[in-house]
Order: sequence, then C-alpha cells, then structure tokens
Amino acid sequence: MHHFHYAGPDLHCESVDLAAVAKLYGTPTYVYSATTIADNYRRLQQGLAGLDVQLCYAAKANSNLAVLKHLSNLGAAFDLVSGGELRRVLAAGGNVRQSVFAGVGKTEAEIKLALQNEIFAFHVESEPEMARINHVAGTLGVKAPISIRVNPDVDAKTHAKVTTGKSDNKFGIPLKYAAAAYEAAAKYPNLAIKGVQMHIGSQLTSIEPFVEAVQKLAPLAADLKARFGISYFSIGGGMGIIYRDALASGQAAWWESQPAETRPLTPESYGAALKPLLQPLGLKILLEHGRFLVGNAGVLLARVEHLKRGAGKNFLIVDAAMNDLVRPAMYDSYHEIVPLHRDSSRRALVADVVGPICESGDCFAKDRQLQEVGEGELIAFMSAGAYGHVMASRYNSRPLAAEVLVQGSSFELVNTRETFEHMIAGERVPAFLK
Ligand SMILES: *Cc1c(COP(=O)(O)O)cnc(C)c1O
Repeated sequence: MHHFHYAGPDLHCESVDLAAVAKLYGTPTYVYSATTIADNYRRLQQGLAGLDVQLCYAAKANSNLAVLKHLSNLGAAFDLVSGGELRRVLAAGGNVRQSVFAGVGKTEAEIKLALQNEIFAFHVESEPEMARINHVAGTLGVKAPISIRVNPDVDAKTHAKVTTGKSDNKFGIPLKYAAAAYEAAAKYPNLAIKGVQMHIGSQLTSIEPFVEAVQKLAPLAADLKARFGISYFSIGGGMGIIYRDALASGQAAWWESQPAETRPLTPESYGAALKPLLQPLGLKILLEHGRFLVGNAGVLLARVEHLKRGAGKNFLIVDAAMNDLVRPAMYDSYHEIVPLHRDSSRRALVADVVGPICESGDCFAKDRQLQEVGEGELIAFMSAGAYGHVMASRYNSRPLAAEVLVQGSSFELVNTRETFEHMIAGERVPAFLK
C-alpha cells in the first residue's frame, strides 16, 4: 500500500500533483510520500504487536535528513553502517542511544564517534573487529556494548549482490563458531555483551528464509540470555517490496485480488510467522528494515528528451540516467515506468527506456510497453524510495538530483539539485600543471 495514484488523468503523490512538483523543481527529482513511510512503519510495528520491539531503520536505504527526522518522530532508531550515517542521525536530531552500528570494516574513528555518542550496540562481524572495538573503548575508558552478527547460512533466495546470510558471504560469524566468539568477547575487559544479531539479505519476497534463520538462531539466543544475560535479538531487515505491479499495489483491491498461495510478503504475514518463534525467548526484538519502510514511498520523476525510432527498436531517451538511479544497471532491477499524464487515446509504445549517459548500461528497461509519450512529457519510475538517491553518483558530470517530501497537500524541497559550483568545489589544478 502506498499513496501514489491517478486523480483524474494526473499522477499524484498523496494530494500533490506530481507535474506541479516537476514544474517547480525540474527533473530528475525524487519525490517521497511521508504518509506512506508512516503507514509502513506502523504496519510493521503492529505486525509484531505484543513483543517488545525497537525498529532501527537501516539508514543506508535513504538517508535524507528529512526522511531520518520523519522516522525518528515515528519512534524509529537507526541501523548505521558508517560515521557519515551516524552524523546524519545527529544532524536530524535522531536517537543514537537506541541505534546500532553494523558493517564489516568499522574504522577506529567511527568506533570512537559511536562510543562518544553512546551507541546502543555495535554489531560485530569478526574477531579482529572485536579486538579493535575493545582497544578503542579502552582508550576512552568506557565499556563498548556489543552483539555478534551470526551468519545462519540460509539461502535468502534473492539477488546475489544483496544476499548476506550464506556461509560464503563476507558477513557475520558462522553459527557453529558463534558460542566460541561470545566466549572470546566475554574475556575482553572493555566489551559488554548486549545481544545477538542476524541479517540474511535484502528484497526477500517469501517468509521461509526468515523463519528458517530465526529457528536456527533461537536456541543460541536462549543460551546467550542464560549465560551472558543478553537483552535483545536483532532479526535484521530485508523485507521486500513490490516492483512489478508497483502502482496497482497502492490499492487494497490489488492485494485482495492476489491468490493466497502467491500473495506477496506483508508486515502482517511477517509478524504472524515470526511472533510465535520470538515470543518464548523473552527478549527485546530489534528490526532493521530499510527498503520496506521507504522503497514504495518514493518515485523518480524524469522528462522525455526524445523518442528515437530506430530500425525495429524504439528508444525513449529521458533526462534521468544510471547515475541518478543505478538499480537497473547494477542489479538488473525492474522499476515500473508510468506517465504523469494518462491519456487513453494514445497508442501503446514498446521501447527501451534509456538515459543520456555514454554507455549501453544506462538502460532502465528493455522492450517496455507504455503509453506513447513525446518530448517534454513527464514520466515516473515507481518504487524508487530505497537505494535510489543514496546510490547516485556524478558520472558524466551530472549533478545529484533534487529530493522533495510530500505530506497531504504540502510538499517541500528537502535536497536542492546540486549546482555545478558545488560539484567541483573540492577539485584543484596542482601547481605543477599551472
Ligand atoms: C542493508 C542492511 C539492512 C537493511 O536491509 P533492507 O533490505 O533495506 O531492509 C539491515 N541490516 C543490515 C545489517 C544491513 O546491512
């Protein structure tokens, strides 16, 4: 469910006509729906009602300050993977004391920053990292709160680049070595054992891998509670969203039309399956979803530059490119593409939708059928709220896109389009070339 829909012929985000946003702020521009984010947050929380749950939003999915502030207002803490993200949470007025710090390569400076801001816990991915955190905590004269990320070796059945819970991934400590790793942690003078963590991958569309992983880790969690008095179990993030029927899935009717056997994962079914496994543990449960909270809450607006009719192939050339939204080029991802102005009298068009960047990888969709659109007309890439703007680059010296947040009939620019002067601000021609 989300709040992108046609009102008459025009695509709206909540009560805002997206063409008006494009007119005011230009394209390419990301637009986010605050109400959709809030709905997603509340559904996830209600799905696990009855458990003591803290949602730690995975900031890497979309770390715009406005998005962080909105989620913080809803009660979220954060799952952080860098010092930069931690500083963003501070800048947004978020709660670092309830937040966790993940990632396989935390630097000493990042560990120090997190300790100074009283991070809730570090999610430790290896024994050398444990030694480093112990060392930094010692220099500050504090005890560092830690949990170990345990790799349950389950197949998340998702894209290879976003699967993280198999034994051949770089993440976490294998389940069979986890007890020994906790024994080792207990011997460090400057570490305090707080919990246990897992995260098996991203864009999971079935419940089975989550269930399998929780079942595999539950006995360890119970054992760690008895031996070390751990207080929480973080079951990670990873819940997938709808990409293929993105627009239709905003309507309740679409969900009701899905056969029960193939109905996509929802926060309700996720909660119903996991609650009985988690409840007996008597632990606080941390969730680290990113994509689910913001993915279907964002679109990328673009303008058509040309419709190029080739020999047996049409190319719809738009002003957004792989530097703005890299997911199709990087993960072969599907994004639904819809016109901002729907016109049933138009013919259908089959085209490759491409950006202006000088490489063939700059392609959003191949042989996509959509309503015929011409130069100057506007389109939207659906489900672009997660891993969109955060992964943008300046390739081809294209400035970073603008971002807008909508709530009801209000909308505001929450990130200005980058200027050329800003883009080159750090660059210098060295003296020996002058
Ligand atoms: C990326 C990541 C998440 C969030 O993944 P989503 O698929 O966006 O929910 C959660 N926890 C950790 C440790 C991660 O690396």
